[in-house]
Amino acid sequence: MVLSAPRPATAAHADTGRDLVDAYVAKTPTSARLAERARRVMPGGDTRTVAFHPPYPITVASAEGCRMTDVDGNVYVDLISNYTSLIHGHAHPAIVRAVTEQLPKGTSYATSLEAQTRLAEILTGRVATLDKVRFTNSGTEATMNAVRAARAFTGRDLLVKMEGGYHGSYDDFEVSVHPDLALAGPADSPVGVMDTRGVPKSTLHDVMVTPLNDVEALRRTMARSGELTAAVIVEPVMGAAGVIPAEAAFLREVQRLCREHGALFVADEVMSFRLHEGGYQAVLGVEPDLTTFAKIVGGGFPVGAFGGRDDVMAMFDPSQPRSVSQSGTFNGNAVTMVAGIAAMELLTAAEIGRINALGDRLREGLAVTLTDAGLPAVGTGYGSMVGIHLVDGPVRNYRDSAAGDPALKRQLHTAMLLEGLFAAPRLMFCTSTPMDDAVIDDVIERFGRAVARL
Ligand code: PMP
Repeated sequence: MVLSAPRPATAAHADTGRDLVDAYVAKTPTSARLAERARRVMPGGDTRTVAFHPPYPITVASAEGCRMTDVDGNVYVDLISNYTSLIHGHAHPAIVRAVTEQLPKGTSYATSLEAQTRLAEILTGRVATLDKVRFTNSGTEATMNAVRAARAFTGRDLLVKMEGGYHGSYDDFEVSVHPDLALAGPADSPVGVMDTRGVPKSTLHDVMVTPLNDVEALRRTMARSGELTAAVIVEPVMGAAGVIPAEAAFLREVQRLCREHGALFVADEVMSFRLHEGGYQAVLGVEPDLTTFAKIVGGGFPVGAFGGRDDVMAMFDPSQPRSVSQSGTFNGNAVTMVAGIAAMELLTAAEIGRINALGDRLREGLAVTLTDAGLPAVGTGYGSMVGIHLVDGPVRNYRDSAAGDPALKRQLHTAMLLEGLFAAPRLMFCTSTPMDDAVIDDVIERFGRAVARL
């Protein structure tokens, strides 16, 4: 669903945001001190690029449900739930119970584990295209192994990804996640841009980019390179690029072209699995060859999973000659598995529908609040995944979302923190099962006060 509103004339956001930062520092003195201490031992004071924002992120002391309390005693409504992963919020009693019962029995054994089989049964039972599945410790490892599977199965190296697509912190996926548009070529035939230093230049030979939701560009890419392509990997809802849903017609064409050229269609549902029991692929009616998962399937603990077609996944069977290797000391560990089972059992179709409806209300409420204040705004996403873009619509790909004013976005993020709203600095939000209509009403009211601070 995309909501857009006309852009009224405004220049009101020209200020530097200095007052907002001063107010933030005044409100979070203990976080400031802890950030300074952390910077002495960790570059930037943390171990996660995405969680950083200037002047420093808050330090959380505790969290429960959809609320977090920082070390200065400020309470925030958590609108990002560790980047969409804590779908039942913090410290859900059923998940705490499952983990607490497991801990005295041990945490990981390097043996088979019934809980792992049970979680695999739940996932394969829910996702129609998932014949077989394997676990990892992160979404990054899940996508890395899915690509390895596609390369092994096809005997080809080339990977086609979307411009703005994020699939984890791995070399092949560092191409054109947030490319500088001055370097990225024309919109309808983008060139790959390396997003970080430290990745071999040769990676750019094995990864091609194409714009999301541009069927013609995809056809040209596959006409040129389809015979060399191992996989086309797509997030059914592109998260890092701004919560932008792939359109059904586009994903159907990905599927058709992959079949035509003997490549595999990989759906990265690491985030979008939360949108439907069968993943967003079930909403759109497409059938990827492989699907990747993470986030919600570990109940708040480190996790990833990948799987799909029986004939592709069979390559990982170590009892077979020349099997494809996939290892990981903590893969399928007992704590993650029991937490994942509890999280999945709580996540009924009715609950997914409920938090999707809350997400629709949130998206509309945030966008309307901004446009009523005379700011450009487009709400993107689907159900419980919400993106807000400070642009005139529509937003159908990375470049549409990259057009927003980054200074205004930063100021709005700081203003939201001052009003007790914790969202991703890129203005990504999600709903979670501890929320109800009253929480959304309160969030929209606070958001109105945050906008008024700009
Ligand atoms: N794919 C997608 C679509 C993601 O959103 C993410 C994480 N945000 C990943 C892969 C990587 O997952 P992880 O951070 O668990 O490695």
